[in-house]
Amino acid sequence: MNKKIALIRGDGIGPEIVEQAVRVLDRVAAKYGHSFSYSEVDMGGAAIDKWGDPLPEDMLRLCLESDSVLLGAVGGEKWNQLPGDKRPEKGLLRLRAGMGVYSNNRPARIWPQLADASPLRREIVMQGIDFIIVRELIGGIYFGEHRTTEENGSTVSEDVMRYSEEEIERIGRIGFETAMKRRRKLCSVEKSNVLDTSRLWKKVMHRLAQEYPEVELSDMLVDNCAMQIVKNPAQFDVIVTENMFGDILSDEASMITGSIGMIPSSSLGAGSLGLYEPIHGSAPDIAGQDKANPIGTILSAAMLLRYSFGLDKEADAVEAAVGRVLDEGYRTLDILPKGEGAEGCTLVGCKRMGELIANRL
Ligand code: NAD
Repeated sequence: MNKKIALIRGDGIGPEIVEQAVRVLDRVAAKYGHSFSYSEVDMGGAAIDKWGDPLPEDMLRLCLESDSVLLGAVGGEKWNQLPGDKRPEKGLLRLRAGMGVYSNNRPARIWPQLADASPLRREIVMQGIDFIIVRELIGGIYFGEHRTTEENGSTVSEDVMRYSEEEIERIGRIGFETAMKRRRKLCSVEKSNVLDTSRLWKKVMHRLAQEYPEVELSDMLVDNCAMQIVKNPAQFDVIVTENMFGDILSDEASMITGSIGMIPSSSLGAGSLGLYEPIHGSAPDIAGQDKANPIGTILSAAMLLRYSFGLDKEADAVEAAVGRVLDEGYRTLDILPKGEGAEGCTLVGCKRMGELIANRL
């Protein structure tokens, strides 16, 4: 398979972690007989410094002409004084809009080797945490009308939550398709006891379910879901939900897995072109010191292989290689246990962690 991947190394630790993901992708290509070519895309602070714009048009075009996009992270103190539309984050928003990605997919997976890093009780963690939240990304209350007015001497604000059947159906399909690639359980999360948008959401999900008879669909109210994620996370395979509920639940889900440096994400639209990135930021406090954990980015590359290129076997192999390196006790600083737990663990830097994972493939 020949594929073109746009690389956005970005700012802070971005270049270091992307370098290790490329090392792993090159190893996958060599081992499984594929050819990956890369185009370098400037975005965020790096693009502001070079071009005076966080995402120049021709950089966006490079992404659109690629088969998929891998991003490190953008941003940093240096650019914080700039006006809103010139800041690094604006590049990211423009990239998402330009790519038309309406679905954000964030796995919550606990690696048994890191079970002690989870704030949950060990007996809950040991039941296994391995689910994915599919969140609608460009609709709902964040994109509805926002208004603040004065009424009878008092300030009143409103934010409109709006969803069309079409918007719900397209994110619903991503939920069902994701479940088809996993354990075929889909939980649709809404607040249908109160909200009209949620009642429509539920209706569309049940209509779609008829097209996916292999998938077991369940409904859950968002407040119950927030409780179930900490009480019994093992019950979930895929959760599909609207923008604001997904924003909150996906942060809750990433907390229970223990380390921000381990978590990948993907954003997808109608085609196979996707944006893959770790959930953390550019970590300026450790940039350039070879201390960053590259695993979130390497697992993002595994998601890219699985969801954009359909290379399941290769994605499985990358995830297994990460597991093997953790089994052998190698840890970057952020996942190194303190005190007695550190026995049998070897502290490694970003580069060495990338090398080890590539070598175990
Ligand atoms: P952050 O995620 O960059 O860092 C939070 C803490 O986690 C820091 O102590 C950092 O050292 C640590 N950390 C993060 N990733 C790590 C990794 N891979 N390995 C080891 N430790 C890691 O969040 P922040 O400090 O709030 O933000 C820093 C910059 O990143 C800001 O400019 C922010 O706007 C930007 N940001 C970018 C994105 C993105 O590009 N998608 C997302 C969030 C924040």
